[in-house]
Amino acid sequence: MNYSVVMTESLNAKLFKHLIRKDGQEDLCFAFYKLSSGKNRSVGVINEVIFPELGDRNVHGNVSFNPEYFDKVTSYALAKSYGICFIHSHPYSGWQNMSYDDIDTETMLASRVKATTGLPLIGLTLGTDNVWSARFWIKTAPKKYDRFWCESVRVLGKQLKISYCEKLLPNQKFGEEFKRTISSWGEAKQNDISRLKVGIIGLGSVGSLIAEALMRTGVKNLTFIDFDTIERKNLDRLLSAGVEDIGKFKVDFHKKRLLASGVIPDLKITTLRKSITEIEAYEAALDCDVLVSCVDRPLPRFVLDCLSFANLIPIVDGGIDTNPKSDMSNIDQARWKAHTTGPERICMKCLHQYKPEDVALQQTGLLEDPNYIKGLPKDHFIHRGENVFGFSLSLAGMEIQQFLSLILKPRGIYYGPKEMDFNTGTIDSDFENECSKDCDIKQLLGKADEIKFNMISEDMVADKSREKYLFSEVKMLKKNRIFKKNKKKI
Ligand SMILES: [Zn+2]
Ligand SMILES: [Zn+2]
Repeated sequence: MNYSVVMTESLNAKLFKHLIRKDGQEDLCFAFYKLSSGKNRSVGVINEVIFPELGDRNVHGNVSFNPEYFDKVTSYALAKSYGICFIHSHPYSGWQNMSYDDIDTETMLASRVKATTGLPLIGLTLGTDNVWSARFWIKTAPKKYDRFWCESVRVLGKQLKISYCEKLLPNQKFGEEFKRTISSWGEAKQNDISRLKVGIIGLGSVGSLIAEALMRTGVKNLTFIDFDTIERKNLDRLLSAGVEDIGKFKVDFHKKRLLASGVIPDLKITTLRKSITEIEAYEAALDCDVLVSCVDRPLPRFVLDCLSFANLIPIVDGGIDTNPKSDMSNIDQARWKAHTTGPERICMKCLHQYKPEDVALQQTGLLEDPNYIKGLPKDHFIHRGENVFGFSLSLAGMEIQQFLSLILKPRGIYYGPKEMDFNTGTIDSDFENECSKDCDIKQLLGKADEIKFNMISEDMVADKSREKYLFSEVKMLKKNRIFKKNKKKI
């Protein structure tokens, strides 16, 4: 199991202000988290903090807290079903290790916190350069608590800033292959990018281009989620796919292709032949630091939107809207837009990337009924699917820009959603980038596992796709057997 911690930039700013003191003394406080359980990673999503009041702690010499402060903290944690974080600062920079005193304090707290909240204590240390270090204290035997370092501590605001544990995710070595890329932004930033865990949901026309681009930008840990197999009708838009690839799962096809390129020798790709509404895919997405949404159906979009706010994972998303003239004599209009959604930005719902009534409709299962679909108006999203490789290429480029800007934020400049108008060739950027006041997605901020099982549902389209694949596999096996029999006869 891997461990990580995530918090919003606004909470990080408050903690920094309290913990990094002008007089150079160390300071402390307690904070609260909800657990976010991925497939291979447990994450503490920090939600709130109770700063010590006068008399709650002694700052001089070795900083320490009084029992009244700890009592206040435990009763609040119990009332809100929170886990507890113990946070202190060091007057040094970089990823902080622990002194013997630190270890004594946290070992003592570990058993008390686990006994009262049922959740492991998370210890965090802040350095003067705003680099965090963190560890989980896990009960490994009766009365025995062991320290497990987090691989990363993530701070999500307009930028995604990650403190990496050098022991668990060491600085990377790059060969000649990445010389040009590294000369653009330097080795330190390349290391930030390369150690990211990025998930792509939907490996269609845009998703396959994004996968290619992320690999060639040096991202070494990718997760592909898609239940679809390659069909003949995909071939005009699916990167590198040929006639002989029809019937293969898109995730397997792209994994094999990228690994075979050898551009990154230690490239790791996790694949799931699943929908994001299925538990295995949902949990694999929780293992990621950034997600790229290349799905077009409303229910998966809604699930990703909720997942993003509940678990503090930013999402790069986009969409293409193409309309032919009604007499099919030309294209009438085309637009495509790219944006980064999530906490401290806007949600996909407020950006009108899906309609709540379509989510509800998909949940009823009616959209799987051919007779029902026939009755829907011609311009309903279920009947739409116009797309062109060149448009996907442009959109994928805009999404990669959003991704790089989220990590690098050069000169401190930040931008929101962008929309390309094909007819005029202009890029519009004058969009709302904050949720509406009464937005219900925003309310899910930091709820982590609390919403997990409300998000999970069977996906009949995914089931059908996998059945179709199995059916064709069986057919192939039979065909091979007949072939062998015939061969014997000859
Ligand atoms: Zn310390
Ligand atoms: Zn919203």
